[in-house]
Amino acid sequence: MNEPADADARRAIKPVICYPNETLPVPDLALYARARAGAMKVGERRVAPRDAGCFGVEAGQFFRITSVEGPQVGDLNLWNAQDLGERFYSGKTRALHGTHLKRGERMWSSLPHLRPMATVTEDTLGWYGFDAFGGSVHDLIGTRCDPYTGNLLRGAQYHHCCHSNLTRALADETGLPLSAAEGHVHDVLNVFMCTGFTRDSGQYFMKASPVRPGDYIEFFAEIDLLGALSACPGGDCSAEHTSDVAECYPLLVEVFAPQPGALDGWRSPAPNAYDRGHGRGG
Ligand SMILES: [Zn+2]
Repeated sequence: MNEPADADARRAIKPVICYPNETLPVPDLALYARARAGAMKVGERRVAPRDAGCFGVEAGQFFRITSVEGPQVGDLNLWNAQDLGERFYSGKTRALHGTHLKRGERMWSSLPHLRPMATVTEDTLGWYGFDAFGGSVHDLIGTRCDPYTGNLLRGAQYHHCCHSNLTRALADETGLPLSAAEGHVHDVLNVFMCTGFTRDSGQYFMKASPVRPGDYIEFFAEIDLLGALSACPGGDCSAEHTSDVAECYPLLVEVFAPQPGALDGWRSPAPNAYDRGHGRGG
């Protein structure tokens, strides 16, 4: 392949950030921390390995996902508890915050809502940063493991991918048939999963999660949420997924409610204010 004469000059052009995010509304983490300090535990759900479970969190409450028994990655879906049409938008969250989610960053909802659903308030893996391979934790890249990709690549019929686990959990929670529930399952936040892109080929990679029992990530619910969490069949995602090969462990979800008045001054965010005219009036 012949390069143009100015190939190096073109490559040398500096990148610009697609979405400078300094103008994003800033969560009041100090207020959240004060509210969390007096909060009481109001619910918990233990998610079995290679399975998923749903949980409800009211706006203004907190939910914590904890590694128990062994290193384990979790695939998280979020919906507006009153409207399954509003759900976590992994692609836009990645565009706004980057490939991995950190403390103070948000999980944003799908169009036309595009508002914060949950804010990361605590993360015991915050120390990890980016490793020498370009890997980091709480992955926003990897969609979710699913049986269709397994079938495409290996001809497999495997039924405990996160996609299927989340589908069963949502069907059980809502009474929807599996086929209808499946349509609401969406790209996840891969909690505790350590991933990146290889520098040479740009391929998506995973490596053993640094999570250990007792580690957790905690979120503040900005709106009423229905959550579903799958304990990925990849376990710590050090080797493979879409199979029963990896050692897998449970995950614990706990919900905490602040004391009345602890969030005075805070309001659940309204849906996005774009007028939805789309160039034809609005
Ligand atoms: Zn998975």
